[in-house]
Amino acid sequence: MPLKKGPGTDELTTEQQRLQQGAIDFAQAKLGENMRERDYAEEFDRDGWNACAEFGVLGMPVPAEHGGLGLGLTDLIAVMEGLGYGTTDLGLLFSMHAHMWTNVIPILEFGTDEQRERYLPKLCGGDWIGANAASEPDAGSDIYGLRTKAEKRGDEYVLNGAKIYVSNAQVADVFVAYATVNPDLGALGITAFIVDRDTPGVSVSRKMEKMGLRTSPMGEVIFEDCVVPETQRLGREGRGVHAFECSMEWERGCILAGCLGAMQRQLERSVAHAQQRKQFGQAIGKFQAVSHRITDMKVRLDTCRPLVYRIGRLKDGGKSARTEAAIAKLHVSESFVTSSMDAMRVFGGYGYMVEQEIERELRDAMGGVFYSGTSDIQRNIIARAMGL
Ligand SMILES: Cc1cc2nc3c(=O)[nH]c(=O)nc-3n(C[C@H](O)[C@H](O)[C@H](O)COP(=O)(O)OP(=O)(O)OC[C@H]3O[C@@H](n4cnc5c(N)ncnc54)[C@H](O)[C@@H]3O)c2cc1C
Repeated sequence: MPLKKGPGTDELTTEQQRLQQGAIDFAQAKLGENMRERDYAEEFDRDGWNACAEFGVLGMPVPAEHGGLGLGLTDLIAVMEGLGYGTTDLGLLFSMHAHMWTNVIPILEFGTDEQRERYLPKLCGGDWIGANAASEPDAGSDIYGLRTKAEKRGDEYVLNGAKIYVSNAQVADVFVAYATVNPDLGALGITAFIVDRDTPGVSVSRKMEKMGLRTSPMGEVIFEDCVVPETQRLGREGRGVHAFECSMEWERGCILAGCLGAMQRQLERSVAHAQQRKQFGQAIGKFQAVSHRITDMKVRLDTCRPLVYRIGRLKDGGKSARTEAAIAKLHVSESFVTSSMDAMRVFGGYGYMVEQEIERELRDAMGGVFYSGTSDIQRNIIARAMGL
């Protein structure tokens, strides 16, 4: 079934529509095999990752000189929406987002020529997987209260500290990690580093089991007397906040693009079920309680799409999208949760059964209200932008 166009996609060029259809066909053919089993076993699809890299997704927004495709963000959003429609492996899509927005993009934006040359072609080509090590047991929403220390010794830094909730941790080759050169300086002490997985003193200590997005690995990362040369610092000392905020703007704006496709798929399944399932001698979709529930799913989706495509337009035009990204993140993540609950209600007892693969989408959707800053934090950003 083709992806039906919403208000956001109506504005796609013919070439972008072609890209999106290509992504749907690719995802339906190559991704999402044995999802039930892999969800249960928390199994990452490395073959799927490689196929996505070959398809070009991982390097789409990166200039060709660094191993990417040099396409615009709107192109990428169209592709991610297509992938989300074509596969139910939202964990794999989540891993790709974590890789792109919090690893590839800060290296592209803040890396030296040598760093870009060393990392980007391999990250865009799928040979290396990237991760972002920022959160700590005592620093979540208050991320600039992080305590991992970076002690300067000559032309090296010695990192010591523990990171949690690191997506892709077990499969990652490269971490963009945040540490402080002086906790007394607060945000002005935060410094970003590119840390290779095989650097002595780096260990991935614990697999963290999640409610949803289970095919995306997550773990704790420990830095213990981990020596990184100054050349691995990403950006200036004490300016790690810039790299982090840049990552968050891209991530908040785009990480839910795949969920647009998933919400469309969910809507189509709900309509089909409401037309086929009969109770009291008629299709359940004839009951207003059911049809209105599905109507709300449609309205939510049609208000989500333009918010995500707005980020594409703004970023492609070289503009900042900080507040708009927070708005997109807040609205799409909350809408996906509500629509996933509605889909379950439409399916009744079937929806609650694991084999129907309806309940997994609710579990996957819940992650969205926490990662990249919780909904409360997005509201704080939006409120501050209004001077509150
Ligand atoms: C699926 C998933 C993937 C993730 N991937 C990564 C990753 O790759 N790398 C990484 O570094 N981190 C990652 N995280 C961590 C994520 O960024 C944090 O979970 C998030 O920032 C919230 O921090 P916390 O969990 O410590 O919650 P807390 O900060 O402890 O918040 C608890 C509650 O208090 C509320 N709260 C806190 N402060 C305020 C405030 N100022 N105003 C209003 N409400 C407030 C929150 O909204 C929340 O409801 C991931 C998390 C999830 C769920």
